[in-house]
Amino acid sequence: MADAVPVRVDVAILGGGIAGLWLLARLEKAGYSALLLESRSLGAGQTLASQGIIHGGLKYALDLKLGQDSQALADMPQRWRACLNGGGEIDLRAAKIAAERHLFWARRTLASRIGSFFGSKLLHGRVDALPAGQWPDALRDPDRVGAVYALDEMVLDVPSLLRTLAQPRWQRIKKIAPDFRIAEDGLTVQGDDGRVYGIQAQAMIATAGAGNETVLAQLKQPPASAQRRPLHMLLVEHAPAPLWAHCFDAGDKPRVTITTHRRQDGVLVWYVGGLIAENGVRQGEAELIAAARQEFATLLPKLDLSRCRFAGHRVDRAEGATEDGRKPEGPVLKRIGHLRVAWPTKLALAPQLADMALADLPPPSGRAAAVPAEWAAPGFALPPWESASWK
Ligand code: FAD
Repeated sequence: MADAVPVRVDVAILGGGIAGLWLLARLEKAGYSALLLESRSLGAGQTLASQGIIHGGLKYALDLKLGQDSQALADMPQRWRACLNGGGEIDLRAAKIAAERHLFWARRTLASRIGSFFGSKLLHGRVDALPAGQWPDALRDPDRVGAVYALDEMVLDVPSLLRTLAQPRWQRIKKIAPDFRIAEDGLTVQGDDGRVYGIQAQAMIATAGAGNETVLAQLKQPPASAQRRPLHMLLVEHAPAPLWAHCFDAGDKPRVTITTHRRQDGVLVWYVGGLIAENGVRQGEAELIAAARQEFATLLPKLDLSRCRFAGHRVDRAEGATEDGRKPEGPVLKRIGHLRVAWPTKLALAPQLADMALADLPPPSGRAAAVPAEWAAPGFALPPWESASWK
């Protein structure tokens, strides 16, 4: 580190997705001097490719019991809502809410089974059955749609969420070259200005999503410490109507999870996950699109998709490892020497991951960080609906 420009901070964060940006804001509030280092663009991994649903665990209750997944998530909508109203741990008043409540529709054949579950005391106050007059236009097909429920789970406009988190903290967010070196007392990185910086930090936290694998490799950790679960998401351009909804059928996963995004040119795009995106991993784009057309013809045959164009988007969910390759039940934070490697598991769980990280840190030093002003900040990545090649 002899020629490196020294920068001393309490905490260095590697990776500017939701986990890193949320943590930066929490650290600042708790009095730490912190620096976030991003090698591509903010939100470039999973965060801007996510659907923005602030899950409260109800999706995971679909096997008609409330499992541990749903318990971990249950407080999240309330916690995020407090931030969005300006009364929470981080001020998110400038972030946009895309939909106040995510919906859930049951196919005609399943409506009564689901009705008794959602009517149970367990879910009281978290789920409302909507009268048919309030169903969104896309779901007005009484031959196919048996019931529509509104969940206490909002959907956020993720680009505006990231801007709201990053803008007050630009001096603490820096662009680095992808190569970095972890040393005993810190981290050596190359800034966008070509200079080499020696970051001396009491603690370092990697929230680099799939990039955590490189961090683990530098620390000589087994590759099995991290896992990826791939998805092949579907995009529908010129979507027939705004819709934020899961479709529930006999299985324990939604057949489709649809969110709607307004592109910068004003065009509405549906972004579709759920089983179709999990099964789509084994399909090429043309096959995914054909399967999606078939699925919409089965679920909502009255939809007019004649103006629509389609695209696929492959993206991996990057998570801490579990023995069976399934999703971890909550955020994962591994401590390896002076470095922590962290995955929120869900965007909605970023606040819980920050709690875990803060609980594991030494107290702030009280020293302000001197970060060179000429060292540039990264830009923002584009979400998939802005960069797709439409078919
Ligand atoms: P990422 O968002 O992947 O960010 C990692 C960042 O680190 C990136 O900016 C990357 O460029 C940077 N980076 C990588 N390597 C380095 C390095 N060496 N040095 C510096 N920076 C580096 N969760 C929900 O709660 N609700 C949803 O609706 C939802 N929908 C989803 C839909 C899809 C298709 C996917 C894939 C995930 C979804 N998730 C959802 C999960 C959620 O998106 C992720 O859990 C969350 O975004 C992970 O955030 P992160 O900050 O850990 O990682």
